[in-house]
Amino acid sequence: VELPIHEAVLGRAAEFGDLPALVDGTDGTTLTYEQLDRFHRRVAAALADAGVRKGDVLALHSPNTIAFPTAFYAATRAGASVTTVHPLATAEEFAKQLRDSAARWIVTVSPLLETARRAAELAGGMEEIFVCDSAPGHRSLIDMLASTAPEPNVGIDPAEDVAALPYSSGTTGTPKGVMLTHRQIATNLAQLEPSIGAGPGERVLAVLPFFHIYGLTALMNAPLRNGATVVVLPRFDLEQFLAAIQNHRITALYVAPPIVLALAKHPAVAEYDLSSLKYVISAAAPLDAALAAACSQRLGLPPVGQAYGMTELSPGTHVVPLDAMREAPPGTVGKLIAGTEMRVVSLDDPGKDLGPGESGEILIRGPQVMKGYLGRPDATASMIDEDGWLHTGDVGYVDEEGWLFVVDRVKELIKYKGFQVAPAELEALLLTHPGIADAAVIGVYNDEGNEVPRAFVVRQPSAPDLSEGEVMMYVAERVAPYKRVREVVFIDGVPRAVSGKILRRQLREAR
Ligand code: ATP
Ligand code: MG
Repeated sequence: VELPIHEAVLGRAAEFGDLPALVDGTDGTTLTYEQLDRFHRRVAAALADAGVRKGDVLALHSPNTIAFPTAFYAATRAGASVTTVHPLATAEEFAKQLRDSAARWIVTVSPLLETARRAAELAGGMEEIFVCDSAPGHRSLIDMLASTAPEPNVGIDPAEDVAALPYSSGTTGTPKGVMLTHRQIATNLAQLEPSIGAGPGERVLAVLPFFHIYGLTALMNAPLRNGATVVVLPRFDLEQFLAAIQNHRITALYVAPPIVLALAKHPAVAEYDLSSLKYVISAAAPLDAALAAACSQRLGLPPVGQAYGMTELSPGTHVVPLDAMREAPPGTVGKLIAGTEMRVVSLDDPGKDLGPGESGEILIRGPQVMKGYLGRPDATASMIDEDGWLHTGDVGYVDEEGWLFVVDRVKELIKYKGFQVAPAELEALLLTHPGIADAAVIGVYNDEGNEVPRAFVVRQPSAPDLSEGEVMMYVAERVAPYKRVREVVFIDGVPRAVSGKILRRQLREAR
């Protein structure tokens, strides 16, 4: 795909005209496609007029709002690379990202302005802070709509120029800046489209954050490219989320496993009319098949479909196609999308390709593989080999029909006396216990120097007396002896990232 991302996404905006592109899920404010197209062009002109130049890095620091896409596409149209920032980042974390990405411009929102100012001060070298809404002393996107400056024409090279600079989630270490070119993102959108294309009339609920590559793709770029309507919520609040599905007649949900869990188990779900929903897709973290089934049965929907990807893959490689949701085997993350190659190689002998049913590391090669980590040539080289294969660090296997199953991350596998135990498998099993609301498993070394599974368990309010012994017994009755949970710790909540990933590092530190 040889178009800059704003053109790849908004190329048909004129055709969609008065259809609603974005709706604020809290107050109903609506932006039509015509407005989105016109607004992002005006803001691009104003940004260029303010001094934004091709190749500059602009930090977009905002929760989900209907203005977010305007800011994003305006910045890329002005030639900038957009680095999206977690709206809950501290000033120190934000400053680190500003320094690391050499950002010179910030777009924020007034409630976050103090953090942005402090971060800019700490990082130094910033040109200007803009706000999406309004704040004294700062130019706002709203004022920029009145700009009479000429539209910038910066001559973007889609194959080389970086459109987005998202940071990986930092689940396994420090978040890394991932350079994604216009071509990589636009190509991946086109690759995913036959499987998950939501067109005019579809209404998707954007509750997962746009700043993460999953939200950016599934909730912003993909629906806006196809004329769907994106209903935006600034954060996940279960009642607000359910009310938005009901009131906005949402047809499609792209969520992460914690939301599937809530949909499957939370009593409040029964109080809302969710009959407009046609399908639910989950990605970003392992989803247990039983949990997925409980969710879809409760909602009367086809089985929850999954997708698989990572920031470094722009981000998708596998998805359960909408028309195959009923026949896909439970637990699969999908089939390989077109124009992409995959290998599964042995963990012990990385040169050896494995066959169907055999678990090993997933390698990917294709046009959506990132350009590299920003400023980290060594990290890039250890991720992408000389033949262009990206080593995902994820363990999985493919069945005879090509459905991929993700087992866990290589780094998280617990090695118990030479056997490998996947925490994700034990977590899924624990969640099937009626007295368990949530669970996480890590490997810890016991007194004999063996790495063993330790389960952190959140009790259901209805099961306040659930004991360690009961939990261990429940698992022991259902798995091979080497997979048994050897320690249980009860906690109030499992620490998770917004994308639903368990923050195992925090569990390890919380000793
Ligand atoms: P970091 O790389 O900074 O440690 P991260 O890997 O969590 O963080 P992301 O790029 O957001 O950052 O996440 C990609 C990872 O998410 C994949 O490597 C995989 O482990 C996991 N993942 C994504 N989709 C799925 C899925 N459907 N099932 C299981 N795991 C998934
Ligand atoms: Mg990663």
